[in-house]
Amino acid sequence: MRAMVLDQGGTPLRLAELRDAEPAPGQILLRVRACGVCRTDLHIVDGDLEEPKLPLVPGHQIVGEVLRGGERFGTGDRVGVPWLGWTCGECRYCLAGRENLCDRARFTGYDVHGGYAELAVADERFCFAIPTEYPDEQAAPLLCAGLIGYRSLRLAGEGEALGLYGFGASAHIVCQVAVAQGRRVFAGTRAGDEETQAFARSLGAVWAGDAAAGPPEELDAVIVFAPVGALVPAALRAVRKGGSVVCAGIHMSDIPSFPYELLWGERIIRSVANLTRADGEEFLALAPTVPVRTEVETFPLERANEALDRLRRGELRGAAVLAL
Ligand SMILES: [Zn+2]
Ligand SMILES: [Zn+2]
Repeated sequence: MRAMVLDQGGTPLRLAELRDAEPAPGQILLRVRACGVCRTDLHIVDGDLEEPKLPLVPGHQIVGEVLRGGERFGTGDRVGVPWLGWTCGECRYCLAGRENLCDRARFTGYDVHGGYAELAVADERFCFAIPTEYPDEQAAPLLCAGLIGYRSLRLAGEGEALGLYGFGASAHIVCQVAVAQGRRVFAGTRAGDEETQAFARSLGAVWAGDAAAGPPEELDAVIVFAPVGALVPAALRAVRKGGSVVCAGIHMSDIPSFPYELLWGERIIRSVANLTRADGEEFLALAPTVPVRTEVETFPLERANEALDRLRRGELRGAAVLAL
Protein backbone atom coordinates (compact mmCIF):
# COMPACT_ATOMS: atom_id res chain seq x y z
CA MET A 1 0.00 0.00 0.00
CA ARG A 2 1.10 3.56 -0.60
CA ALA A 3 1.48 5.64 2.55
CA MET A 4 2.99 8.89 3.78
CA VAL A 5 5.50 8.04 6.50
CA LEU A 6 7.13 10.10 9.25
CA ASP A 7 10.66 8.84 9.94
CA GLN A 8 11.55 11.46 12.49
CA GLY A 9 9.94 14.56 14.01
CA GLY A 10 10.97 17.75 12.25
CA THR A 11 11.31 16.11 8.83
CA PRO A 12 8.74 16.01 5.99
CA LEU A 13 6.64 12.93 5.36
CA ARG A 14 8.00 10.46 2.82
CA LEU A 15 5.87 8.66 0.22
CA ALA A 16 6.54 4.95 0.72
CA GLU A 17 5.32 1.56 -0.40
CA LEU A 18 4.52 -0.41 2.77
CA ARG A 19 3.35 -3.97 3.29
CA ASP A 20 -0.47 -4.00 3.28
CA ALA A 21 -2.04 -3.49 6.70
CA GLU A 22 -3.47 -6.75 8.14
CA PRO A 23 -6.29 -6.79 10.70
CA ALA A 24 -5.65 -8.57 14.02
CA PRO A 25 -8.62 -10.16 15.84
CA GLY A 26 -11.12 -7.42 16.74
CA GLN A 27 -9.79 -5.12 14.05
CA ILE A 28 -11.25 -4.18 10.70
CA LEU A 29 -9.35 -3.55 7.51
CA LEU A 30 -10.37 -0.36 5.74
CA ARG A 31 -9.78 1.06 2.33
CA VAL A 32 -9.15 4.70 3.21
CA ARG A 33 -11.35 7.06 1.19
CA ALA A 34 -10.49 10.28 2.99
CA CYS A 35 -8.37 11.34 5.95
CA GLY A 36 -8.59 14.72 7.63
CA VAL A 37 -5.46 16.68 8.43
CA CYS A 38 -5.49 17.81 12.07
CA ARG A 39 -3.32 20.31 13.88
CA THR A 40 -2.22 17.41 16.07
CA ASP A 41 -0.72 15.79 12.94
CA LEU A 42 1.26 18.97 12.45
CA HIS A 43 2.53 18.85 16.04
CA ILE A 44 3.56 15.21 15.55
CA VAL A 45 5.35 15.92 12.26
CA ASP A 46 7.05 19.01 13.67
CA GLY A 47 8.31 17.02 16.67
CA ASP A 48 6.32 18.98 19.27
CA LEU A 49 4.92 15.81 20.87
CA GLU A 50 7.19 13.48 22.78
CA GLU A 51 6.63 9.90 21.85
CA PRO A 52 5.16 8.99 18.48
CA LYS A 53 5.82 5.44 17.31
CA LEU A 54 8.36 5.79 14.51
CA PRO A 55 8.30 5.28 11.61
CA LEU A 56 4.68 6.39 11.65
CA VAL A 57 1.76 6.78 9.27
CA PRO A 58 -0.09 9.80 10.73
CA GLY A 59 -3.78 10.62 10.38
CA HIS A 60 -6.67 10.16 12.79
CA GLN A 61 -9.76 11.37 10.95
CA ILE A 62 -10.19 8.37 8.69
CA VAL A 63 -13.24 7.70 6.57
CA GLY A 64 -12.89 4.23 5.14
CA GLU A 65 -14.77 1.37 3.58
CA VAL A 66 -14.68 -1.95 5.42
CA LEU A 67 -12.88 -4.58 3.38
CA ARG A 68 -12.97 -7.32 6.02
CA GLY A 69 -12.77 -8.31 9.66
CA GLY A 70 -14.71 -7.55 12.82
CA GLU A 71 -18.32 -8.11 13.74
CA ARG A 72 -19.80 -4.65 14.27
CA PHE A 73 -19.63 -3.56 10.65
CA GLY A 74 -20.29 -5.33 7.37
CA THR A 75 -18.10 -5.42 4.27
CA GLY A 76 -18.62 -2.22 2.31
CA ASP A 77 -19.83 -0.20 5.32
CA ARG A 78 -18.46 3.29 5.67
CA VAL A 79 -16.84 3.89 9.04
CA GLY A 80 -14.85 6.60 10.78
CA VAL A 81 -11.70 6.09 12.82
CA PRO A 82 -10.93 8.78 15.41
CA TRP A 83 -7.90 9.73 17.52
CA LEU A 84 -8.83 7.40 20.42
CA GLY A 85 -7.75 4.03 19.03
CA TRP A 86 -7.72 1.77 22.09
CA THR A 87 -8.16 1.98 25.86
CA CYS A 88 -7.34 -0.50 28.61
CA GLY A 89 -10.81 -0.69 30.13
CA GLU A 90 -9.42 -1.24 33.61
CA CYS A 91 -7.55 1.85 34.82
CA ARG A 92 -9.31 4.23 37.20
CA TYR A 93 -10.16 6.61 34.34
CA CYS A 94 -11.67 3.91 32.15
CA LEU A 95 -13.65 2.56 35.10
CA ALA A 96 -14.95 6.06 35.86
CA GLY A 97 -16.25 6.60 32.29
CA ARG A 98 -13.36 8.92 31.47
CA GLU A 99 -11.64 6.79 28.86
CA ASN A 100 -10.29 9.93 27.18
CA LEU A 101 -7.81 10.05 30.08
CA CYS A 102 -6.90 6.32 30.02
CA ASP A 103 -3.37 5.76 31.34
CA ARG A 104 -2.59 3.29 28.59
CA ALA A 105 -4.62 4.72 25.70
CA ARG A 106 -3.33 4.25 22.18
CA PHE A 107 -3.95 6.97 19.68
CA THR A 108 -4.50 6.59 15.96
CA GLY A 109 -1.72 8.04 13.85
CA TYR A 110 0.51 8.37 16.93
CA ASP A 111 0.85 5.04 18.78
CA VAL A 112 -0.54 3.03 15.87
CA HIS A 113 -0.52 3.72 12.14
CA GLY A 114 -3.19 6.10 10.91
CA GLY A 115 -4.91 7.07 7.71
CA TYR A 116 -2.34 8.80 5.51
CA ALA A 117 -2.33 5.54 3.52
CA GLU A 118 -4.39 3.51 1.09
CA LEU A 119 -5.27 0.95 3.78
CA ALA A 120 -5.70 1.15 7.55
CA VAL A 121 -6.66 -1.18 10.38
CA ALA A 122 -8.60 -0.16 13.46
CA ASP A 123 -10.11 -1.71 16.58
CA GLU A 124 -13.75 -1.83 15.56
CA ARG A 125 -14.97 -0.95 19.09
CA PHE A 126 -13.55 2.56 18.63
CA CYS A 127 -14.95 3.18 15.12
CA PHE A 128 -18.10 5.09 14.27
CA ALA A 129 -20.72 4.74 11.56
CA ILE A 130 -20.53 7.79 9.28
CA PRO A 131 -23.81 9.69 8.83
CA THR A 132 -25.10 9.09 5.32
CA GLU A 133 -25.64 12.83 4.73
CA TYR A 134 -21.92 13.46 4.39
CA PRO A 135 -19.67 12.69 1.44
CA ASP A 136 -16.30 11.16 2.47
CA GLU A 137 -14.28 14.37 2.32
CA GLN A 138 -16.87 16.39 4.25
CA ALA A 139 -17.21 13.69 6.91
CA ALA A 140 -13.49 13.42 7.70
CA PRO A 141 -13.15 16.68 9.69
CA LEU A 142 -16.10 15.70 11.87
CA LEU A 143 -13.95 12.95 13.39
CA CYS A 144 -11.56 15.16 15.34
CA ALA A 145 -12.03 18.83 14.54
CA GLY A 146 -15.74 18.21 15.03
CA LEU A 147 -15.98 15.88 17.92
CA ILE A 148 -13.14 17.19 20.09
CA GLY A 149 -14.46 20.65 19.25
CA TYR A 150 -17.86 19.51 20.46
CA ARG A 151 -16.38 18.15 23.69
CA SER A 152 -14.71 21.55 24.19
CA LEU A 153 -18.02 23.30 23.62
CA ARG A 154 -19.72 21.10 26.23
CA LEU A 155 -16.96 21.79 28.75
CA ALA A 156 -17.22 25.53 28.06
CA GLY A 157 -20.65 25.45 29.73
CA GLU A 158 -24.00 26.81 28.72
CA GLY A 159 -23.00 30.46 28.41
CA GLU A 160 -24.57 32.47 25.65
CA ALA A 161 -21.63 34.67 24.62
CA LEU A 162 -18.90 32.32 23.38
CA GLY A 163 -15.45 33.20 22.10
CA LEU A 164 -13.63 30.92 19.65
CA TYR A 165 -9.97 31.91 19.40
CA GLY A 166 -8.24 30.43 16.37
CA PHE A 167 -10.81 29.97 13.64
CA GLY A 168 -9.68 26.84 11.82
CA ALA A 169 -11.09 23.39 11.21
CA SER A 170 -12.50 22.90 14.69
CA ALA A 171 -13.90 26.40 15.27
CA HIS A 172 -15.66 26.48 11.90
CA ILE A 173 -17.64 23.41 13.00
CA VAL A 174 -18.19 24.46 16.63
CA CYS A 175 -19.39 27.88 15.45
CA GLN A 176 -22.25 26.29 13.52
CA VAL A 177 -23.29 24.12 16.48
CA ALA A 178 -23.12 27.05 18.91
CA VAL A 179 -25.17 29.31 16.64
CA ALA A 180 -27.78 26.56 16.26
CA GLN A 181 -27.94 26.37 20.07
CA GLY A 182 -28.80 30.07 20.15
CA ARG A 183 -25.43 31.33 21.33
CA ARG A 184 -23.60 34.38 20.05
CA VAL A 185 -20.14 33.54 18.71
CA PHE A 186 -17.16 35.90 18.88
CA ALA A 187 -14.38 34.71 16.58
CA GLY A 188 -10.82 35.67 17.46
CA THR A 189 -8.21 35.42 14.70
CA ARG A 190 -4.73 36.74 14.01
CA ALA A 191 -4.74 40.52 13.75
CA GLY A 192 -5.63 41.63 10.23
CA ASP A 193 -6.75 38.20 8.99
CA GLU A 194 -9.79 39.61 7.26
CA GLU A 195 -10.37 36.55 5.11
CA THR A 196 -10.80 34.30 8.16
CA GLN A 197 -12.87 36.95 9.92
CA ALA A 198 -15.23 37.14 6.93
CA PHE A 199 -15.40 33.32 6.91
CA ALA A 200 -16.40 33.34 10.60
CA ARG A 201 -19.11 35.93 9.99
CA SER A 202 -20.43 33.88 7.07
CA LEU A 203 -20.95 31.01 9.56
CA GLY A 204 -22.92 33.18 11.94
CA ALA A 205 -20.31 34.81 14.20
CA VAL A 206 -21.62 38.16 15.49
CA TRP A 207 -18.09 39.52 15.86
CA ALA A 208 -14.76 38.59 14.29
CA GLY A 209 -11.49 40.35 15.00
CA ASP A 210 -8.08 40.26 16.65
CA ALA A 211 -8.10 37.63 19.41
CA ALA A 212 -5.26 39.27 21.34
CA ALA A 213 -7.12 42.59 21.54
CA GLY A 214 -10.38 40.81 22.42
CA PRO A 215 -14.04 41.38 21.60
CA PRO A 216 -16.05 44.50 22.45
CA GLU A 217 -18.04 42.86 25.26
CA GLU A 218 -17.64 40.40 28.12
CA LEU A 219 -17.90 36.72 27.23
CA ASP A 220 -19.21 33.74 29.20
CA ALA A 221 -16.51 31.42 27.90
CA VAL A 222 -13.69 31.23 25.39
CA ILE A 223 -12.40 28.11 23.64
CA VAL A 224 -8.77 28.56 22.60
CA PHE A 225 -8.05 26.42 19.53
CA ALA A 226 -4.88 28.23 18.45
CA PRO A 227 -1.68 26.70 19.94
CA VAL A 228 -0.70 30.10 21.28
CA GLY A 229 -0.20 30.36 25.05
CA ALA A 230 -0.41 34.15 25.01
CA LEU A 231 -4.08 33.82 24.10
CA VAL A 232 -4.87 32.31 27.53
CA PRO A 233 -4.43 35.54 29.53
CA ALA A 234 -6.06 37.41 26.63
CA ALA A 235 -9.06 35.09 26.90
CA LEU A 236 -9.19 35.41 30.70
CA ARG A 237 -9.31 39.15 30.26
CA ALA A 238 -12.36 38.72 28.00
CA VAL A 239 -14.45 36.43 30.24
CA ARG A 240 -16.82 37.52 32.98
CA LYS A 241 -16.62 36.42 36.62
CA GLY A 242 -17.22 32.68 36.82
CA GLY A 243 -16.45 32.28 33.13
CA SER A 244 -14.27 29.58 31.58
CA VAL A 245 -11.29 29.45 29.26
CA VAL A 246 -11.03 26.05 27.59
CA CYS A 247 -7.78 25.08 25.86
CA ALA A 248 -8.71 22.60 23.15
CA GLY A 249 -5.37 21.70 21.60
CA ILE A 250 -2.90 18.95 22.49
CA HIS A 251 0.04 21.35 22.45
CA MET A 252 0.48 25.03 23.13
CA SER A 253 3.37 27.44 23.47
CA ASP A 254 4.10 28.43 27.08
CA ILE A 255 1.46 30.53 28.78
CA PRO A 256 3.02 33.84 29.85
CA SER A 257 2.64 34.89 33.49
CA PHE A 258 -0.28 37.15 34.21
CA PRO A 259 -1.71 39.03 37.20
CA TYR A 260 -3.84 36.93 39.53
CA GLU A 261 -6.65 39.40 39.14
CA LEU A 262 -7.34 37.96 35.65
CA LEU A 263 -8.17 34.61 37.25
CA TRP A 264 -9.84 36.06 40.33
CA GLY A 265 -13.63 36.06 40.37
CA GLU A 266 -13.88 32.27 40.05
CA ARG A 267 -12.74 32.24 36.47
CA ILE A 268 -11.64 28.79 35.28
CA ILE A 269 -8.89 27.62 32.95
CA ARG A 270 -9.02 24.04 31.76
CA SER A 271 -7.79 21.81 28.97
CA VAL A 272 -9.65 19.24 26.90
CA ALA A 273 -7.90 15.96 26.28
CA ASN A 274 -8.90 13.48 23.57
CA LEU A 275 -12.43 12.08 23.32
CA THR A 276 -14.64 9.35 24.61
CA ARG A 277 -16.66 7.08 22.36
CA ALA A 278 -19.79 8.66 23.84
CA ASP A 279 -18.60 12.08 22.62
CA GLY A 280 -18.27 10.66 19.13
CA GLU A 281 -21.67 8.98 19.04
CA GLU A 282 -23.35 12.10 20.40
CA PHE A 283 -21.68 14.51 18.00
CA LEU A 284 -22.13 12.36 14.89
CA ALA A 285 -25.84 12.10 15.68
CA LEU A 286 -26.07 15.86 16.20
CA ALA A 287 -24.06 17.10 13.19
CA PRO A 288 -26.60 16.27 10.45
CA THR A 289 -29.44 17.83 12.46
CA VAL A 290 -27.75 21.27 12.74
CA PRO A 291 -26.81 20.66 9.91
CA VAL A 292 -23.07 21.17 10.23
CA ARG A 293 -21.47 21.79 6.84
CA THR A 294 -17.73 21.34 6.64
CA GLU A 295 -15.62 23.48 4.37
CA VAL A 296 -12.71 21.40 3.10
CA GLU A 297 -9.74 21.76 0.83
CA THR A 298 -8.70 18.39 -0.59
CA PHE A 299 -5.24 17.13 -1.43
CA PRO A 300 -4.08 13.83 -2.95
CA LEU A 301 -2.23 11.51 -0.54
CA GLU A 302 1.20 12.33 -1.93
CA ARG A 303 0.68 16.04 -1.28
CA ALA A 304 0.16 15.62 2.48
CA ASN A 305 3.24 17.77 3.20
CA GLU A 306 1.68 20.63 1.26
CA ALA A 307 -1.55 20.30 3.28
CA LEU A 308 0.48 20.42 6.51
CA ASP A 309 2.44 23.46 5.27
CA ARG A 310 -0.73 25.33 4.50
CA LEU A 311 -2.09 24.48 7.94
CA ARG A 312 1.18 25.59 9.57
CA ARG A 313 0.97 28.94 7.77
CA GLY A 314 -2.71 29.43 8.61
CA GLU A 315 -3.69 29.47 4.96
CA LEU A 316 -6.58 27.04 5.02
CA ARG A 317 -10.22 27.95 5.04
CA GLY A 318 -11.90 25.24 7.12
CA ALA A 319 -10.17 21.87 7.06
CA ALA A 320 -7.60 20.08 4.90
CA VAL A 321 -8.48 16.56 3.84
CA LEU A 322 -6.49 13.92 1.98
CA ALA A 323 -8.78 12.37 -0.63
CA LEU A 324 -7.86 8.91 -1.88
ZN1 LIG B 1 -7.67 2.82 30.84
ZN1 LIG C 1 -7.08 15.72 15.78
